[in-house]
Amino acid sequence: MSTKAYRRSGFARSDAPAGTAMSVSPAMVLWLVMAGAGAVVALAVIKAPLPVFFNLPLLAHTSGLLAGYGVTVMVALMSRAPALERGVGADRLARWHGLGGRAIFALILIHGVAATAAWSTGQRIPIWAATVEVLHMPGLVAATAGTLLFLSVGYISARNVRRKLKYETWHFLHLLTYLAIALSFSHELAGPDLAGLPLVQVAWSLLYTFSFGLVLRYRVLAPLTQLWRHGLRVDHVINEGGGAASIILRGRHLHELHAESGQFFRWRFLTETLWRSSHPFSLSAPPHEQFLRITVKAIGDGTRLIHAVKPGTRVLAAGPYGAMTNDRRLGRGVLLIGGGVGITPMRALFETLPVPGSTLTLLYRSSAPGEILFRDELEHIAQRRGAQLIFLTGRSSDPRNAITAQSLQQMVPGLASRDVYICASPRFSAALTAALIQAGLPRRQIHQEEFNF
Ligand SMILES: Cc1cc2nc3c(=O)[nH]c(=O)nc-3n(C[C@H](O)[C@H](O)[C@H](O)COP(=O)(O)OP(=O)(O)OC[C@H]3O[C@@H](n4cnc5c(N)ncnc54)[C@H](O)[C@@H]3O)c2cc1C
Repeated sequence: MSTKAYRRSGFARSDAPAGTAMSVSPAMVLWLVMAGAGAVVALAVIKAPLPVFFNLPLLAHTSGLLAGYGVTVMVALMSRAPALERGVGADRLARWHGLGGRAIFALILIHGVAATAAWSTGQRIPIWAATVEVLHMPGLVAATAGTLLFLSVGYISARNVRRKLKYETWHFLHLLTYLAIALSFSHELAGPDLAGLPLVQVAWSLLYTFSFGLVLRYRVLAPLTQLWRHGLRVDHVINEGGGAASIILRGRHLHELHAESGQFFRWRFLTETLWRSSHPFSLSAPPHEQFLRITVKAIGDGTRLIHAVKPGTRVLAAGPYGAMTNDRRLGRGVLLIGGGVGITPMRALFETLPVPGSTLTLLYRSSAPGEILFRDELEHIAQRRGAQLIFLTGRSSDPRNAITAQSLQQMVPGLASRDVYICASPRFSAALTAALIQAGLPRRQIHQEEFNF
């Protein structure tokens, strides 16, 4: 099939058997994490001197062990393991990672203070002398350096600080967490928390090996294997107007990726200027055996350079990621909502979601008529499927663009029984969610993804 025919045909659906990849539900992951935390607390209680209920050593043991355990959970959550990405979703994983990261920083601080205070009380020496002695414990100097590194990474990840940094700078500094973990590991293993418990030390090491193994497998080896197996290259670039361009990628055996409409990949274009950073972009058309399409809005240096990539450029793709697929559906009909360039995954879902056209609606919010992407394709799909297509264009202050429970109910028949997929800016997503809940839609029927990191 020629690429022209591919574009004209409305992007024939891939033969890939959808949903064959394994996935775990958010509840399963949370239960597993909580069970592990319970075991860690039990271990701390075993190690603590009596009385068990509250004492400084118990606080030091519990916070230290929980922080060490939490680190492995954080690493595993961000390993990009397909079962997690598909079942939990990249958005939610990133939120959990942020919350977990903050909890770990707090635990590390509590651990440091409680351990020093416990030593000072136990040895009947002043706190400064206890600090000096504690630093002579096994692996403590390296662990202190690791702690300082953890705290620095925590600082640069705070929303206000992170906003001021370039994504690449933030990402590079964030990777220093791995060094911090390595620096702290010998203290965890040989320090008072695990000393004298060889079986637990082995189990602890295996836990770390497992989570770092996941990272190696899915963040490093998987994209390289995909490059070799699928040989993805830029086929051609199409200017879509409104500052966006579609990149058509050609490759081999693409059905083996088991990608689905609604998902995204992290793309690394192997040119001299772009190879260092990978950017997440959703599939803007259903995947095909030989072709994939993404549509990129130029908003910064990276995306501007991507618009200029030459045909033949090799592409490293990691994925597919994202849980906004057909698997998520619970209700009878579907309302897809795309805001701005958030239309990309919705465009693909609009074509392929297996629901009768009469219960399928796409609502597309854009700031100006010139910003609307894929107008012809969307109208063609709507006509072919008998689906409803709504454009809301122009200023938010225009009453015709108001998003309220009433306006949504008027526009979309049978709203409460539908699943709603949203991909839009955080502000628009929040307004939509509030209106949908007010319209009586259960939260579990609302599925969303933001183009945010
Ligand atoms: C799951 C997901 C799917 C996305 N799908 C699309 C899509 O289909 N089409 C589209 O046009 N955009 C999409 N985006 C947004 C797109 O990834 C960013 O706009 C792009 O990476 C910006 O790169 P830049 O170097 O031009 O921008 P910069 O000027 O460097 O940064 C602008 C902003 O983009 C974000 N950003 C920059 N680099 C990255 C990165 N490597 N990873 C994550 N965020 C980054 C940061 O929030 C930053 O503040 C998606 C984002 C996510 C998270």
